[in-house]
Amino acid sequence: MTGAQGHTDRDMTDGLDRLWTPHRMTYISGEDRPEGGYDKPSGCPFCLAPHRSPEESLVVARGGHVFVVLNLYPYNPGHLLVCPYRHVADYTDLDGPETAELASFTQTAMRVIRKVSNAHGFNLGMNQGGVAGAGIAAHLHQHVVPRWGGDANFMPVIGRTKVLPQLLVDTRDLLVRAWPD
Ligand SMILES: [Zn+2]
Repeated sequence: MTGAQGHTDRDMTDGLDRLWTPHRMTYISGEDRPEGGYDKPSGCPFCLAPHRSPEESLVVARGGHVFVVLNLYPYNPGHLLVCPYRHVADYTDLDGPETAELASFTQTAMRVIRKVSNAHGFNLGMNQGGVAGAGIAAHLHQHVVPRWGGDANFMPVIGRTKVLPQLLVDTRDLLVRAWPD
């Protein structure tokens, strides 16, 4: 794996502390930041992800207007992002079909995560603009973050330790198998 999506072994010891503090996420200032930044589609991880191989992309599901990808820097295991294919920044930039599919895929993501993990709750949401904490502000993404009581979770090994690439791939495979056709 290479580029902005290539570093999957970040230290996750502060994983729970990072909930909803994405400005602390390492890739914003990380050495793998593309030269032109994330603003242009050519350097945007969410524009590149659908074109990567299934093993590399961590894409869980593809719709006609949006796709679902595992967050490389999860706050919790199973943390998904629902993204439009189009490189648009603002929620008001979405057209009707994109808005509808983003909503329905968010619902499906919740159902799938519940099915495989018995999540107790969720944080859903979008950070709009860098000032609001968006790590990659140029490309809209809806967070779907499963929560457990005390955040003891279905893959506790991921929760407070290093996120190994293989664990992310395993998590992706688990979600792909549970995703409805
Ligand atoms: Zn993009």
